[in-house]
Amino acid sequence: MKMDKSSAYFEKACQVIPGGVNSPVRACKSVGCDPLFVASAKGCMVTDVDGNEFIDFVGSWGPMILGHSHPDVIAAICDAAPKGTSFGAPCPLEVELAELVCDSVPSLEKVRFVSSGTEATMSAARLARGYTGRNIVVKFDGCYHGHADSFLVKAGSGVITLGIPGSPGVPDDIVKNTLSIPYNNVEILEATLRDAKLDIACVIVEPVAGNMGVVVPELAFLQKLRDLTSELGIVLIFDEVITGFRLALGGAQERFGILPDLTCLGKIIGGGLPVGAYGGRKEIMDNIAPDGPVYQAGTLSGNPLAMAAGLAMLKIVRQAGFYDELEEKSDWFATRLAAVAATAQVPTVLNRIGSMMTCFFTETPVTDFESAMKADTERYAQHFRQMISSGVWLAPSQFEAAFVSAAHDRNHLKKALDMTESSFKKISES
Ligand SMILES: *Cc1c(COP(=O)(O)O)cnc(C)c1O
Repeated sequence: MKMDKSSAYFEKACQVIPGGVNSPVRACKSVGCDPLFVASAKGCMVTDVDGNEFIDFVGSWGPMILGHSHPDVIAAICDAAPKGTSFGAPCPLEVELAELVCDSVPSLEKVRFVSSGTEATMSAARLARGYTGRNIVVKFDGCYHGHADSFLVKAGSGVITLGIPGSPGVPDDIVKNTLSIPYNNVEILEATLRDAKLDIACVIVEPVAGNMGVVVPELAFLQKLRDLTSELGIVLIFDEVITGFRLALGGAQERFGILPDLTCLGKIIGGGLPVGAYGGRKEIMDNIAPDGPVYQAGTLSGNPLAMAAGLAMLKIVRQAGFYDELEEKSDWFATRLAAVAATAQVPTVLNRIGSMMTCFFTETPVTDFESAMKADTERYAQHFRQMISSGVWLAPSQFEAAFVSAAHDRNHLKKALDMTESSFKKISES
């Protein structure tokens, strides 16, 4: 595969951007190659600056549920742009999107827009602390909630990939207010939440983990989490930055029928533009400034281009049958993927729910961070390199999700299966 232009850009980028990338997950260090620079993307295809084309399963790490450059989304942006790109004052599009988001996500009565998932989770935790007057945040090992100080404790995504437990620069005084416990473990959950010495403000959870690879919770775990937090007056925050508008229109909370107190959204909600949001019950949301004392603000929040893109995206996913079709297609693909792995006799565990999945190179079920860590990352790296050189773009880490979008058709998926088959064959022979 020719990559002269990408290599040249990367060399220049490394001079002026740390690691040559604006988010560490984009560096391909853990899979032993350099990043490709993208020229354009359309549907489920990405074209790099050297003219190579790839079937994309990263989807910009989640947002691209419609595929890239969906005509309605592009038209909405082009329509909004000449009217102004930022006002610093309320605009009608914000109200329209807020109404649609509250109508789509079961537990939302009010929602505040921000510009990233990180801002959404950071603000939700502050609100939970302000509302309860307590300090401790409980999270789960391997879950990623953006890069705010409170959450960089046993975090997932790029933090696992780079093999760092926390982060220098996060003071101990902040870390001591965060407790990280194992995912899917009801006993430890109950013991922790009932510990009277702890002053727990909130529990934040990915209702399906996507940042240690896809790990689906046991329903009993989520239900216990809801029951205990209700009983003990602890705010339950679902971080649905990946799962929101992904697993169902109303996200994981709709799919599982379990409603949190606060929900964080990001990724899909902006149709590919920078948008995040947090929302929930009125009684809690009314504590945010200017209605209440908990301060949170944003110069570009509710940006008109971002709202227009989000609205166009939401209008499409709200159409009847959208999620059924995505589900059916993802199931078709995953079933065949598992069969390919079995035939090649490469030990793998395929975790899937809806259109998000991870194929772990391991023999034992992956139910939490510890079992995810048993995956053979060298094998994944080999697989990644073989796939990219045959035209399939996967995340450059074992501990991430692959996403199927509305733009993948059976032909794309069949091609990807063929490529996977030959890659697995090479792996089993090596
Ligand atoms: C991506 C992600 C975030 C952070 O969102 P950014 O927009 O990257 O700041 C938070 N939570 C989850 C579950 C995520 O997957």
